[in-house]
Formats: sequence, structure tokens, C-alpha cells
Amino acid sequence: MNQFISSNSPPAVVIGAGPAGLMAAEQLSAAGFETWVFDAMPAPGRKFLMAGKGGMNITHAEDLALFISRYGARDEQLAPLLGEFGPERLRAWMAALGIDSFVGSSGRVFPGDMKAAPLLRAWLQRLRRQGVRFFMRHQWQGWGASGGLRFIHAGTEVCVVAEAVVLALGGASWPRLGSTGAWTGFLSERGVRLTPFLPANCGFEVAWSEHLRGRCAGMPLKPVRLGFVDRDGQAWRQSGELVISEYGLEGGAVYALSAVLREAVAAEGGCVLTLDLIPDVSEAQALARLARPRGKQSLANFLRGRLRLDAAKYTLLRELATPDELHDPVSCVAKLKALPVVLTAARPLAEAISSAGGVCFSGLDERLMLLRLPGVFCAGEMLDWEAPTGGYLLTACFATGRAAGLGAAQWLRRG
Ligand SMILES: Cc1cc2nc3c(=O)[nH]c(=O)nc-3n(C[C@H](O)[C@H](O)[C@H](O)COP(=O)(O)OP(=O)(O)OC[C@H]3O[C@@H](n4cnc5c(N)ncnc54)[C@H](O)[C@@H]3O)c2cc1C
Repeated sequence: MNQFISSNSPPAVVIGAGPAGLMAAEQLSAAGFETWVFDAMPAPGRKFLMAGKGGMNITHAEDLALFISRYGARDEQLAPLLGEFGPERLRAWMAALGIDSFVGSSGRVFPGDMKAAPLLRAWLQRLRRQGVRFFMRHQWQGWGASGGLRFIHAGTEVCVVAEAVVLALGGASWPRLGSTGAWTGFLSERGVRLTPFLPANCGFEVAWSEHLRGRCAGMPLKPVRLGFVDRDGQAWRQSGELVISEYGLEGGAVYALSAVLREAVAAEGGCVLTLDLIPDVSEAQALARLARPRGKQSLANFLRGRLRLDAAKYTLLRELATPDELHDPVSCVAKLKALPVVLTAARPLAEAISSAGGVCFSGLDERLMLLRLPGVFCAGEMLDWEAPTGGYLLTACFATGRAAGLGAAQWLRRG
């Protein structure tokens, strides 16, 4: 059975009720257009709420030029949008919703209570007051023969005619939160260019011994400094924290290098990452501290006392250094400062914090309208950009959602 949802005049439709879609809906309804938001999930903002678990890092307070550089190969495309709606405007926007924010020690910006739920609640209330209508459990299925938008809702096909559409369907990580990436077929069959999705901000596999896995899985390694040299000879460094997992390594420091590491393991079947397990101690200082006689102390106790090497770091050192290296201070320090870990593969996309790939910018105009589908705009993680964690993901989702919403409003005004 087919059903039509209709209104006096065709509404502006936003598909995807994540941060990008909600921001687009805000622009459209503020511009006076009847705005309908559709989403396959039972409630809006599932992934946004997940991002709030354990502290939602919504943006970053660093200098804007440095902030924009975090988007790597897509910094040029995102710069004008982030210039319009960057970290400062995002914080002012939150404040207008009654949510204060603070800058953490590393420059990361969080809502006052670190949570996403109060922000989402206040935002949805404001959108509803503005007249935005929500249609949940509506799974978008592409376009029908007559050009209408097709949805499946409670086993029934629903058709919606709209003059302007903003697609904000998310990437393809954590599909259980709604962003399954199943929309790619609907766009590619209409000639829209897409880059295949890949895991971003993901963990990497390491062939740990049973011993290390049994003793250390779940244990943090902090602080550490990662080092990696890519095929072009470019050296990458990243300080931060890691977690030893059953399968390998995860955590902020490796996520930050995930784009270059992912390319290296894909091209060469593996790559070597070095870990500085004592980043706050220079090689010379470490050698001086190990020059003292060990006496009857075990090596583990000696290294713990001299270099504050905890159990996880020590077990990892033993896993990856030979007994001879461990007992020779010069070799031991060399390993402590650059312990080589072989990464064999990136973890699957479904587990990654975010995805790389999606709708190519070359197929969009500056308002984020698809050149192949006039009147259809795209925003958020479904676009082909990637960035490290640190608030960069959400900021770009807000900025692109705003640009697409403004673009759609401009498109609707034209007639
Ligand atoms: C565990 C975790 C922690 C994170 N922490 C942070 C953080 O601290 N800081 C940060 O900046 N970022 C963080 N992120 C990333 C951030 O949450 C995402 O980048 C952001 O939510 C993407 O926003 P979006 O609006 O583009 O897409 P999404 O939030 O994924 O929303 C897309 C929406 O589209 C809907 N949809 C998809 N397909 C269809 C369809 N066919 N029909 C109808 N609806 C559809 C989905 O149901 C979903 O609601 C985190 C992500 C995860 C998984």
C-alpha cells in the first residue's frame, strides 16, 4: 500500500536527524520554510548521544588556521564553511541554547556537564517550537518513478514530494546507531560520485602473544608518543594515550594517525609504528637513571623505580624486545624510546569512531548542492572528508549542515 504525506505546499525535507541534519533543519525553518525531518531510527541524534558518553568533545579552541588544517586533504573545501561556523560560533550557538561550554587542558571544548543529552533536548525543543516536524522510523529508499522521496514506515511505503531536500545520512561506522551507509546505492545510480567508505579513527590489529593479551588487554598505555614514517619519508608524531586491546591497539593517539596508518597497511599489508614509552624522559636521562646498580631488584621493579614504567608498558617491552636487549641499558633505552610494533590491519568500519569517504566534493557546488540532482543538498559525515577526534568531526557536521540548510533555503527562495 502506498501512502502520501502531503501539505499545502511541498515542504523542505531533511533526511537524517543527526547533528548535520538538525542544523540544516534549523536554517530552513528559521528562514520560514515548512521543514520536515525524517529518520530511520526511533529517536533523533542516536550517534550524537553516543558521542556524549564519557564526555562529548564538541569542538576545539585552537587557532582557526590550525583547526582547519586538521581536515587534511579536504581543508580547502571545508575552510569557507568553518570560517562561517567554526568553534567560536558553535560555542555561541550552544550558549544561546542555554548550554555553557569549557575548554579542557588540551584545548578540547566540552559542554559544561560533558553530556550530549541536555544539548540535544534543548535543541529539539527549540526546533519543534520553530515548527519543525519529525517523522521517525522512516527509512529512506531513494526516489520513486514520479520523483518523490520513498520511505518505508511500519511496513508501508510512504511517498513525499519536496522542493528541496537535505540529505544528512551520516557515514557508515557504528551502523546500529542508524548510519548504515545503505544510501550509497540511491545516489550512485543517479550518477553521484562517491568515494568508498573506509574506517577512520579506528584501532589497528597487532599479532599479540597469548601472554600479552591475557595480561594486558584493556590496559592503558599513558603517556606515549607514537612515531611513523610514511612511504614518502614524511615523519608523523603523535602524543597521547593508547589502550592495549584483545586485537591490537586503540585509543586517541592511534586514532589521530589512523588515516596515514590505514593507507600504509592497505598498500603494504602492514606497517611499523614506534612507541616512545617514556616520552617525558630523554634518552640521555634514561641512560643516566639506568646506570645505577640494579642490585637484587628484578628488571621490572628496577624499570618501575627508575623510569616509572608500569606493568602494561613493561609487559609490552618484554613482548617486543629480546632478553639481551632488555639487559643491555643502551639497547633497552633505545627500545623504550622507539619500540617497534607491527600493525597488520585496520579494524572494521563498523567499529570505527567515524568513516572516511562518501559524496565527493567535486560533485557539489559551494552550497553543497549535488550538481547531478538540483535541489538536493548533502551534509555531515556522508561527505568525503575525515578528521581526527577532538571535536573536529562534530564541528564539520554542524558547519556543513548549516551550509546545506542555508543553500536549500536560498534554492527555495529562487522561485
Ligand atoms: C562512539 C563515538 C564517539 C564519538 N565521539 C565524538 C566526539 O567526542 N566528538 C566529535 O566531534 N565526534 C564524535 N563522534 C563522531 C560524531 O558523532 C559523528 O561524526 C556525527 O554524529 C555525524 O553526524 P551526522 O549528522 O553527519 O550523521 P549521524 O549522526 O550519523 O546521523 C545520520 C542520521 O541519518 C539517519 N539515516 C541514515 N540512513 C538513513 C535512511 N536511509 N533513511 C532514514 N534515515 C537514515 C540515521 O538514522 C542517523 O540518525 C563519535 C562517534 C562515535 C561512534
